Order: sequence, then C-alpha cells, then structure tokens
Amino acid sequence: MSVTPHLFIPGPTTIPDEVRMAMNVPMIDMRSAEYPKLTLPIFEDMKKVFKMKDGRVFIFPSSGTGAWESAIQNTLKPGDKVLMSRFGQFSLLWVDMAERLGLKVELCDEEWGTGVPLEKYADILAKDKAHEIKAVFATHNETATGVTSDIAGVRKALDAAKHPALLFVDSVSGLGSLDMRMGDWGVDCCVSGSQKGFMLPTGLGILAVSQKALDANKSNGGMARCFFAWEDHIKTNDLGYFPYTPATQLLQGLRCSLDLIFAEGLDNVFARHHRLATGVRAAVDAWGLKLCAKEPKWHSDTVSAILAPEGIDSAGIVKTAYYRYNTSLGVGLNKVAGRVFRIGHLGALDEFMVGGVLFAVEMTLKDCGVPVKFGSGTGAAAEYFNKTATKAAELPKAKAA
Ligand SMILES: *Cc1c(COP(=O)(O)O)cnc(C)c1O
Repeated sequence: MSVTPHLFIPGPTTIPDEVRMAMNVPMIDMRSAEYPKLTLPIFEDMKKVFKMKDGRVFIFPSSGTGAWESAIQNTLKPGDKVLMSRFGQFSLLWVDMAERLGLKVELCDEEWGTGVPLEKYADILAKDKAHEIKAVFATHNETATGVTSDIAGVRKALDAAKHPALLFVDSVSGLGSLDMRMGDWGVDCCVSGSQKGFMLPTGLGILAVSQKALDANKSNGGMARCFFAWEDHIKTNDLGYFPYTPATQLLQGLRCSLDLIFAEGLDNVFARHHRLATGVRAAVDAWGLKLCAKEPKWHSDTVSAILAPEGIDSAGIVKTAYYRYNTSLGVGLNKVAGRVFRIGHLGALDEFMVGGVLFAVEMTLKDCGVPVKFGSGTGAAAEYFNKTATKAAELPKAKAA
C-alpha cells in the first residue's frame, strides 16, 4: 500500500493540491510579452504579505539562504559592524554567514529556547553613540527551537536609542503564517523562502527591502556580488522580467499560494496557525512534556520543538515515527540534537491533520518508552478545538438534499 507521507517537518511543508496542479502546466516563455502578466501581480501581492509601506521585493531562484546573502551583500561592506543574536541553528547560520562575508559581528549569545534579547539590544544600541553598528539582525522565528521573537520590540529599541541602523529580519519560517509588518515595524530587509508558509517546493529566495535599504544600497555600495545583485533585478523586474532564468514553475505555484492566502484572509491564516499551535501545545502539556521554548512569550505558532524526556534519544522518536507511522517530524539540530523533536505546524494545515500527527506522536512516544496515556495529548487538543470551534449557528446552511 502506498500512502502519501505525512509531512510535519517545519519546511518543506505540505503542498496543497491546487498549488501542485498550478505548477503542472506547460512551460511558458520567460521573455514573451505575456510573461509580466504572471510576474508583475506577484511582486505587488508579495508587498501585501510583507505589509510594506515602501520598497520592493526580489525573488531569486535560490533557497532562503540566498536571500540572506543578498540582503547582506547589497547593503553592507566588509568590516561593517552589525548586532546579531544566536539562539538556535538558523540564527547561528546567519551569524556564520555574516562573519564569512567579512562583517564585524557584535554577538549576543543566548540560551537556546529564548529569542532576540530586547534589553541587551536596547543597551548596546543606546551605548553606540557613534552609530558604528550599521545593521541589527533578528530571527523572527527560530525554527530549530520553536521560538518567535518580538520584532516590534527590536524596532522600539532602535527608536529609543534614535539609532539609524538597518533592521534585518529572517522570517523564512514566519512569513505567510505569522504576522509580519515590515512597514509598521520599520524592517529594512526581510528574508523568506518558498517552502514554508508559501506551501511550495524549495527554490525561491524571497527578499523584501525598504526604501531605506535601497538608499543604503546606493550610498554604501555593499560588497562584491553578482547573482544576488539588486541593481540587475531592478533593471528588469519593473518590466516583469529577470536578469537570468526565473523559476517559472515555482512562480506559477506562488501565484496559486497567494490566491489561497488572500482567499482565506491573512488575519484568518494567522488565527488558524495560532489555534492549531495551541492545540499542539495542549497535547505536549498533557503528555507531561516540555517545549524547548523557555516561556510562553517565545512560543512559536509555526513549529513546536519538544524536549524528549531524560534518557530518551529524540532521534529515535523521529526515526520511529518515520518508519512505523509514515510521519516525518523535525530532528533536533546542533546543540539540541538528540534532545528535541519538532512538529511543524505551518502552511496547509487543519485540525484533522494536527489530530493525525498528535496521534502518531502519541503512539511513537509509547513505542519509545515514554509513559504517555493514549488519548491524553490527542484528547487535550480535541478539548481545545472543541471549545474554540466555530459556533454551529455561524456555519453555512446545508442545502436540502
Ligand atoms: C528554513 C529557514 C532558513 C533558510 O533555509 P533554506 O534551506 O536556505 O531555505 C532560514 N532561516 C530560518 C529561520 C529557516 O527556518
């Protein structure tokens, strides 16, 4: 028997059938007069998802890591000082990239399970009277530990210090699932990718930049770059084209994902993620397990990293779920390898799917020697979904048979 694998890693996420079908179309000519009909509305619609007030969006045939690189190369010079924090595998990799590209990183090394340290950022920025720090970096949603950070809070710290540094945000596992308000929060470079909230295969590096970032690009000059150079994209994007071959099939898919997201409504998408994540957290609680995220203020609505009980290898949990229940969970990365397993709950997801993964995890935990009571986690999630369900009176009236 062959059943589609149940994918509960925090990216790539499940691809809805509509999106998959939207990509299963004949290839079109990327230099034709028709091509901009596909691309120009995508650029405009992406601005709505990022909630931008000005600036523009770049789309590269790369993964999210490419968008990180593009943000740095186009605005900062080798030797520029930047403020960063590290509290999980993705914030760690961003620091690594910044150092390899020659930036001088002032680093806040934080406990894994916490997020961007707002007070430390505020202190450091207030003390930097000479404005040596050119950019402040924040990982919106640390996928390795299931921690969401307060980006509005970072903006407040910058404003309180009247600091002109650019604000860079990694929202690869946030955008399209968690609220992102680039305009309101004064975010200058926001990084995303196709394979998480956008429910697409990997292959698009998405970078939204403010007018301030575009100005920095002109005045600071950035560093050596080619593939990710903004200027080449600006020349061609305004007419709906790209400086090299775009990932047309992924753009076809992105058109469909944007349509799905707007049809549901961004606020409803965020509310759905919050509700489903709360159900997952209720289950974790009922199993007597703890999240890697240290406090509720860090809880991520897109991924839960769950600590395996003392003496139990989380990699064994992931492996058991995969082989026994055809269910992919996220492994623990780096410092938390062997200690956490992750449930990705972002993108195309509903109560039925959350119920399914919780059922599989419950069975797996028992298989791995964790003394959980069957029905405890799934039951707790069901209780929460039941209490918060759409009222019967609000459901559409059924048509007479
Ligand atoms: C997935 C992810 C990335 C980018 O990874 P790619 O594999 O290059 O797409 C970056 N940051 C976070 C927080 C992520 O979750």
